[in-house]
Amino acid sequence: MAEKLRLDIVTPYGAVFSDEVDEVTATGSEGEFGVLPEHAPFVTTLRAGLFQARKDGQPLYFFVGWGYAEVGPEKTAVLADSAERAEDIDVERAMEAKRRAEDRLKEQEDVDFTRAEAALERALTRIHIVERVVGR
Ligand code: ATP
Repeated sequence: MAEKLRLDIVTPYGAVFSDEVDEVTATGSEGEFGVLPEHAPFVTTLRAGLFQARKDGQPLYFFVGWGYAEVGPEKTAVLADSAERAEDIDVERAMEAKRRAEDRLKEQEDVDFTRAEAALERALTRIHIVERVVGR
């Protein structure tokens, strides 16, 4: 039985992670789910959230935006519109994105609310990961 699982996280900006891990915990659109080696295959959508993996007993934290995860017994592949490792999150940039999104949501017209809400969700999630999860 396989003890490791390959994890690939790919975005339009490039590959964010590609390595063997022990387990994965992701934010699916229906809620959090965990994957261990030999998991039955499934495909799910992801929403912006914390994405965790464990490698050699050490936790790895990522922000992963909207996307898909394809899970198989030996491999989990994530294709997301954006993703980065928690240590690469620029919290000031996320604060700026939050302010911009909040200002847009206050406007009455000519605003793409769905887009602004999604941007706000990404910014709040990045800030949460930095401040509450990795505690920077
Ligand atoms: P912004 O308005 O600041 O670009 P955004 O939420 O619109 O934020 P995304 O579309 O999610 O940005 O991501 C675009 C690219 O920028 C991705 O490669 C993503 O990893 C990176 N990125 C976005 N925000 C941050 C951040 N706060 N820290 C580090 N990388 C970021």
